[in-house]
Amino acid sequence: MTEDWRFQKRRARLVEELRNKGIDDERVLAAIGTIPRHLFVDDALLHRAYNDEALPIGLKQTISQPFTVAYQSMMLAPRLHDRILEIGTGSGYQAAVLCEMGARVFTIERLRALYERTLIQLKQLGYNALCRCGDGTQGWEAVGPFDGIIVTAGARDAPDKLLEQLRMPEDGSPGGRMIIPIGGRTSQRMTRITRTGPDDYDREVMEGFRFVPLIGGE
Ligand code: SAM
Repeated sequence: MTEDWRFQKRRARLVEELRNKGIDDERVLAAIGTIPRHLFVDDALLHRAYNDEALPIGLKQTISQPFTVAYQSMMLAPRLHDRILEIGTGSGYQAAVLCEMGARVFTIERLRALYERTLIQLKQLGYNALCRCGDGTQGWEAVGPFDGIIVTAGARDAPDKLLEQLRMPEDGSPGGRMIIPIGGRTSQRMTRITRTGPDDYDREVMEGFRFVPLIGGE
């Protein structure tokens, strides 16, 4: 499906909707205003691609609601060339947003069929996120530590292996930060965890959300 004026208009309306809902990071809004979300959803759902809603992507998984993607990206606030690890590649849309924001993106998906489909999709669209199939709760030690980690599935708590792979603070600047929805099966609170020392982390608990579960060894 190629780009056309219908989608550009709808995308611009979505950006305005997100702005009205409190997203005020212009880099996030610019990314969402650029990325063809309709290419990340099934053809049968094209007419809903620019609604502010999560949509099924098969295998009982979802592409997150645009507000959720925008909110997590805003809370993560990656700087240019920051190394960001995403857990839960899914459709690849969140990874594309982070790439558009200038981050170096590493992303892990546990379901092989999704991983294979999204790997091709991201390449075709020119996003050079490094993708891996596996259990994201273990992190990706070989390419860490990370300036930021974003978890896009609901967790009971922050996995230790991910906390360990956040960059340490240096020269008075804070260490790496993780944005992770923490809670039960039906609802979670978005949490930002910032590394402040070898074994020290600050936690800020923010808005409530509802994610599919994070499933893994940690
Ligand atoms: N970020 C995705 C996007 O932009 O489309 C949305 C992700 S969807 C809400 C959550 C994803 O996390 C699913 O694809 C699921 O298979 C994946 N997932 C769950 N547990 C995981 C784990 N331990 N490691 C890697 N991926 C996991």
